[in-house]
Amino acid sequence: MEKLQQRVKEDGVVIDGGILKVDSFLNHQIDPELMYEVGETIYNKYKDEGVTKVLTIEASGIAPAIMAALKFKVPCLFAKKSVPSTLTEEVYHTDIHSYTKNKTSHVVVSKRFLNENDRVVIIDDFLANGEAALGLYNLVQQAGATCVGVGIVVEKSFQSGKQRLLDAGLDVTSLCEIAALDNGKVTLVGEGEL
Ligand code: 5GP
Repeated sequence: MEKLQQRVKEDGVVIDGGILKVDSFLNHQIDPELMYEVGETIYNKYKDEGVTKVLTIEASGIAPAIMAALKFKVPCLFAKKSVPSTLTEEVYHTDIHSYTKNKTSHVVVSKRFLNENDRVVIIDDFLANGEAALGLYNLVQQAGATCVGVGIVVEKSFQSGKQRLLDAGLDVTSLCEIAALDNGKVTLVGEGEL
């Protein structure tokens, strides 16, 4: 997605430890038109797959996920990182280690909202080591549902996530692929090649 790639190059701020800050359009302030295009691109990829649900994790996955869900005309379900007192029913749960926060969260979704008839697209803002996406896939498997694909806004291709998802048999659609974040500079996959 060219517009997204341009925005990542222009607005992305490289932080120590190979982390990219994109809080002007995705992680703090959100650009709705750009997110709509993100949702539309993921929809176009999986529109013939009989998708019944879009699954993400709070908080930054919600913006792209809800735009995709709007296009699919299906609910957007987000895994919660803590169990609220209002969630009294049975849940599927797993642990997800956050690469950026260096913290493990116990995440849950209600069994009411995911079942064996669901065909799920998983969406997240970033793909690094694949912990979040694989954790969400684990919830899909617990429900006996089918994952038709994983949509990622920004993939850091120099980390292991993409390969881990492919090894798990998942179809992965990344809209912006970053080859390197060296010396404060964002280099996209394919950039500079003839
Ligand atoms: P993974 O679970 O694939 O290791 O990491 C993806 C998760 O960590 C995403 O949900 C995202 O919130 C966060 N993350 C990983 N790398 C980055 C990054 O470079 N920038 C931002 N903003 N978030 C990241």
